[in-house]
Amino acid sequence: MAPPPNPRIMPFGDEAIAEAARLIAAGQPVAVPTETVYGLAADATNAEAVARIYAAKGRPGFNPLIVHVPDLAAAEELGEFTDEARALAAEYWPGPLTLVVPLRPDATIAALVTAGLPTVALRVPAHPAIRALLNASGVPLAAPSANASGLISPTRASHVAASLGDRVALIIDGGASQRGIESTIVAATGGPLRLLRRGPIDIDAQLPAPGSGIQAPGQLASHYAPSKPLRLDATDRREGEYLIGFGPIAGDDSLSESGDPVQAAARLFDLLHQADAADAPSIAVAPIPGNGIAAAIRDRLKRAAAPRKS
Ligand code: AMP
Ligand code: MG
Repeated sequence: MAPPPNPRIMPFGDEAIAEAARLIAAGQPVAVPTETVYGLAADATNAEAVARIYAAKGRPGFNPLIVHVPDLAAAEELGEFTDEARALAAEYWPGPLTLVVPLRPDATIAALVTAGLPTVALRVPAHPAIRALLNASGVPLAAPSANASGLISPTRASHVAASLGDRVALIIDGGASQRGIESTIVAATGGPLRLLRRGPIDIDAQLPAPGSGIQAPGQLASHYAPSKPLRLDATDRREGEYLIGFGPIAGDDSLSESGDPVQAAARLFDLLHQADAADAPSIAVAPIPGNGIAAAIRDRLKRAAAPRKS
């Protein structure tokens, strides 16, 4: 299926940044160049704005997203840094290094950004366009690559336009991304530093390779799962269940009373945590019909319902 035509493209400059900041404040994602690839950026503190990233990309599931901040001080408001993590940040920021650190309990990041995990991936980018947008918008920006799911990452505004079309409200054109590959990701979540993804920063020699070495079970779990059994496609509440509703099925609380899948995505991880913390020994979730982001929600719920492997 061809993407819808005519996305709005503005050259990087004061006017584009002002317009982008206006859209970010209105909860809309904006495509912006970074030194790695073009990102689809939204206010990381606004769950519905983050859900719109997924709706635009048509991602079949929810991965935790990288949060971009202007500097280390802003990063430390969101995550907990060990001396080791701080030293890496001091050496490589601004730049293509992402650090996964424990999420601060008082951080205002939407749960959809971390996909419900107690960790957060943080990066201080170097590209002047995303730096200008961070300054103008004054909020942390969650930004995965600005391409439709399953397609290659965009390194030019024209790639974003071809991939997302007018599913993105604005593309800031800053020319070609210098690096063209995604950031190096290092986890600093306790114990030795771990390389989670290779990238432009060559720190492999200092760290165990991805997937190597012994990790405590669950330590690297890339997906939040509730601790209780989860029943899908529930049209009524059975004994001992906390029912998460959707649309016509009310439940104990609802992902979206109006049956809006974007709102449901925005509330998904908050409600899973809420259900997990409730007294009821098990969880049931109403059917979430539809394609696109509704399918991503179902995919995520299926994983949450499957017995844990790690
Ligand atoms: P990207 O697709 O470039 O936005 O990178 C996202 C990747 O960063 C994810 O697929 C994870 O591998 C990693 N990541 C992001 N947030 C977290 C997190 N909270 N915990 C662990 N890994 C994360
Ligand atoms: Mg990508």
